[in-house]
Amino acid sequence: MKLNEHIFRANDIRGIAYEDLNEQVVSLLGRSLGSEALSRDIKDLIIGRDARVSSPEIMEWLSSGILSTGCNVIDIGIVTSPMFYHSTFELAASSGVVITGSHNPAEYNGFKIVFKNQSTSSDEILLLRERIINKDFQLGQGKLDKVDIKESYINRIVKSVQLNKALDISIDCGNGAAGVVAKEVYEKLGCNVIELYGNPDGLFPNHHPDPSKKENMLDLIDSVAKNNSTVGLAFDGDADRLGVISPSGEMIYPDRQMILFSRQVLESNPGASVVFDVKCSQLLSDEISRLKGNPLICKTGHTFIKQKIRETSAHLGGEMSGHIFFNDRWPGFDDGIYAGARMLEIIANSDDKNVFESVPNLVSTPEINIKATDDRKFQIVDQFIKHSNFENANMIDIDGIRVEFKKGWGLLRASNTSPFLVLRFEAETEEELAKIKEIFYLNLKEIEPETDRF
Ligand SMILES: [Zn+2]
Repeated sequence: MKLNEHIFRANDIRGIAYEDLNEQVVSLLGRSLGSEALSRDIKDLIIGRDARVSSPEIMEWLSSGILSTGCNVIDIGIVTSPMFYHSTFELAASSGVVITGSHNPAEYNGFKIVFKNQSTSSDEILLLRERIINKDFQLGQGKLDKVDIKESYINRIVKSVQLNKALDISIDCGNGAAGVVAKEVYEKLGCNVIELYGNPDGLFPNHHPDPSKKENMLDLIDSVAKNNSTVGLAFDGDADRLGVISPSGEMIYPDRQMILFSRQVLESNPGASVVFDVKCSQLLSDEISRLKGNPLICKTGHTFIKQKIRETSAHLGGEMSGHIFFNDRWPGFDDGIYAGARMLEIIANSDDKNVFESVPNLVSTPEINIKATDDRKFQIVDQFIKHSNFENANMIDIDGIRVEFKKGWGLLRASNTSPFLVLRFEAETEEELAKIKEIFYLNLKEIEPETDRF
């Protein structure tokens, strides 16, 4: 049997449906998951899935594998990843898996796994792989149940968030799983909602469901302008990430969203810790310190952030990719729709016409991706760290390298989820930004002579 080892990643399992994730591989994964669950005294696994074309078949294969171990399956149908996380807090079963390719291209799919309310670590994911290689499976006959968790999910949000006034908003579900619930949530909160692409369609016929890229936000920017919306909200394919458009049509990147969220969370929880990843603006860290909070920088990756939040009891966490984790009046999992509701709360409870004008901005680049193979990407970053010479700079090497100069910083890391190198730059002026980019470019070109200018 061909088992592509690259499907086992730092945060989850992901690959091309029907190739990496064929019937044999997925049912073995089900046997591995069921056996691992039983060995931890877990007798029921919840399974949810996104709206991808391959998801129903993958669900069949996975659940038949799990059932063959004697572990039970609770099918919650088409859900967002956060609805699945919610189900692990809502139902008696606190473990399970959501089948989703997140924001990856339509031919991909994958698995996010939770044991006892906690996302699996990279070591736990490797344990599942070991079980498959060693054929370390239990045998039995589990039973299959179906449960609908939509109503309890909507109630969880409506209980947590209160808007002081009704807002006119535009949302873009990008034909992803958000379409099953987002509009209803915001209407229950009292908003007038203009919805784009609300019907789940795994072929993503309108644009890709990845709100971190501007080209996917153009229709929403248009809708905000045309309808005079107070804000535009967008979600990735499984709705665990949020994108925000200001009333003037500006893309508000997640580190700037986090400045608003930090203000709100620190107001009710003085001195609280806030976790954010190495891609975030220096302004976020500065703002958390200014408000007497405790800024904590962390590796990129939703499981790393969750882990750090747990270790430090932080009240808030966020990633430049758009994963936002509230751990104050919400149980700590990332949810684009809920984060959107918290943004609406900030807007509705403020007297400002455009709350985003109060958020400072430096000159920065969005995330820059450079193609590199899964085999090479980590080596390139290691060589870059070893061979580069940065004078008068502070180096943070918890995840690739973030080099902080006096008037700006640059980052190079390997993506955990895709065959890419990731770069980002921020500085006080355009000139400083260009200088830092040039230093990174010249150093990278030494290692990879084919590198194009970025
Ligand atoms: Zn996602």
